[in-house]
Amino acid sequence: MASVLVIGAGVSGLTTAVCLAEAGIDVRVDTDRLPGATTSAAAGAMWDPFLVEPRDLVDRWSRQTLAELTALSTAPDTGVRLMEGTHESRVPCEMPTWGSVVAALPCPPQDLRDGYVTGWRYRAPLVDMPRYLNHLVRRLERTGGTLHHRHYDTLDEALHEAPVVVNCSGAEARFLADDPAVDAVRGQLVVVENPGIGTFFCDDTPGARELTYIYPHAEAVVLGGTAEPGTWDLRPDDDAAREIVRRCTAVEPSLAGARVIEQRVGLRPVRTGVRLTEERRDDGLLVHNYGHGGAGVTLSWGCAREVVDRVRGTVGSTP
Ligand SMILES: Cc1cc2nc3c(=O)[nH]c(=O)nc-3n(C[C@H](O)[C@H](O)[C@H](O)COP(=O)(O)OP(=O)(O)OC[C@H]3O[C@@H](n4cnc5c(N)ncnc54)[C@H](O)[C@@H]3O)c2cc1C
Repeated sequence: MASVLVIGAGVSGLTTAVCLAEAGIDVRVDTDRLPGATTSAAAGAMWDPFLVEPRDLVDRWSRQTLAELTALSTAPDTGVRLMEGTHESRVPCEMPTWGSVVAALPCPPQDLRDGYVTGWRYRAPLVDMPRYLNHLVRRLERTGGTLHHRHYDTLDEALHEAPVVVNCSGAEARFLADDPAVDAVRGQLVVVENPGIGTFFCDDTPGARELTYIYPHAEAVVLGGTAEPGTWDLRPDDDAAREIVRRCTAVEPSLAGARVIEQRVGLRPVRTGVRLTEERRDDGLLVHNYGHGGAGVTLSWGCAREVVDRVRGTVGSTP
């Protein structure tokens, strides 16, 4: 029996399991979808503390994650790179509060895209999620952690498997943890061949109805996106895909005619606030770590380290 069972093999579960294993704690991950089939694998994914609460904790967790991802960007085969680019708005607005964390600078007017009136240029981690999740699995297995395919109907069922359970079930926590405060906000992306784009772009117009962003990876560019609250359908919608490509091409004309490689769909676990809490059930300890909305990658290391702090002391660790 493992000392700690983590439910979920998305970025929250895998990062938490890596942190536990590297702290010398015997850990097992059980998941009903393997890493490549999770919402995390579908993400874009930029470091971006996007509309998530509670603000003070999100600031801390996102800074901790920024430091970890920045360090990983210099290691081989992690899928993490530091990428320069811009956040731009079609209406005048203030720099996001986290702009100072990444030393964002205002764009001179001649650098703005057509139709945009203000913007900020900065460098931040851009993560190729399928590669990054593979890196996390390898890192987990190197420290003795294991990954198994298994579905749980209840958290009590999981507490029969280990004295400590960490619930990283993303949007499905709505059912597993019986928590109506978390809901899926469906997101769709289109991945196209990279015509030579080397900087990221994100439309940050306050109140914009559509999401428009362009995240270039080595061979491919991730184009976003959609946000559909309460929609759990994982099938790609071809009309939405065409509209994403149209919006992104209007901003970045070099995308015209780029070959579509794949479409990705994921369910952002949006909640009134991230749930990082613990509860005692009989003799067991249950720690929740879900509800990261559109920023689960951005918060992953900060949240995972906090879970370790809560678990340490409850279970023994090996040196
Ligand atoms: C289109 C899109 C773009 C995004 N872009 C970004 C971005 O640029 N930056 C960023 O920081 N974030 C981004 N996000 C948000 C980010 O992807 C999520 O916040 C993050 O993936 C949530 O990770 P998670 O591990 O909590 O959940 P998930 O990745 O959903 O993983 C949940 C895991 O729990 C398992 N599970 C659930 N229920 C059970 C059960 N009953 N039994 C067993 N296993 C179970 C699942 O199988 C899965 O392995 C984006 C999301 C989408 C959809």
